[in-house]
Amino acid sequence: MHLELLELQRRIQGRVPVPTLDLSAETIARHQAEGRPLLPFDAIPLELSDLRLMVRQTADVLKRFGALDDFDYQRVQAIGRDMKLLALVGEWYRSTAERSTVAPAALGHVVPPESPRIQDAMAEVLGLAMRPFLSRCAEVLQQRPDLALWTHPHCALCGGAPDFAVITPSAERHLICGRCALRWKFEPLTCPFCANSDRTRITSFAARLGDADYRVYACDVCHRFLKAFDARRSARPVMPVVDSVATLPLDAAAMQRGYTS
Ligand SMILES: [Zn+2]
Ligand SMILES: [Zn+2]
Repeated sequence: MHLELLELQRRIQGRVPVPTLDLSAETIARHQAEGRPLLPFDAIPLELSDLRLMVRQTADVLKRFGALDDFDYQRVQAIGRDMKLLALVGEWYRSTAERSTVAPAALGHVVPPESPRIQDAMAEVLGLAMRPFLSRCAEVLQQRPDLALWTHPHCALCGGAPDFAVITPSAERHLICGRCALRWKFEPLTCPFCANSDRTRITSFAARLGDADYRVYACDVCHRFLKAFDARRSARPVMPVVDSVATLPLDAAAMQRGYTS
């Protein structure tokens, strides 16, 4: 199912035009200071017919694999045809992108990501359907050296929470956004969900699955965990979707120890 979704996203992403974004050093520095994500909804290069296609086909794939029940499937198909789709997607996007702002006085302190207002199956479908458009924007920001200025636990581009990470060959930990797949450097032993930086209260364990090394970081304050691909001894780069699925046994192990994703 994940491979089919990935294929669908790749096909659409190839058609998304390169966005024109203001990513000057000054803009990035200002947004870093405010903790404010860089991409406003209006700047996303959204083609409505492609978005409709993504919504409907994503729902088809999820339904075929039993990940969407009939009721939700009908709801998603209806919204895929509805004129309100753009408004709904805008609300979904903004609920996360515009909620995190750090007051200047609180600089150095991190704000935990909040959950979006549109919950459930609809949010999942919208998130998957928006991925090609958001990832296209992330590709542009990823090239900018000033991205290294970003120190927050939420995504510099879209404000999304990290849902995977990678340990680079130089032993840095880079978080990977669950919405747009942007990667950014973050303290290796600080919890991105509650800002706990007491290393004695971070439980970390390594695991080898197949031909890849992974690490789980679990927080003993908020009890959430984050998985990471360890690229230090790997012949291939991280593949977030593939690695998330390959590491499902680690979710089970972490949950057995009382942590949640
Ligand atoms: Zn993002
Ligand atoms: Zn935590």
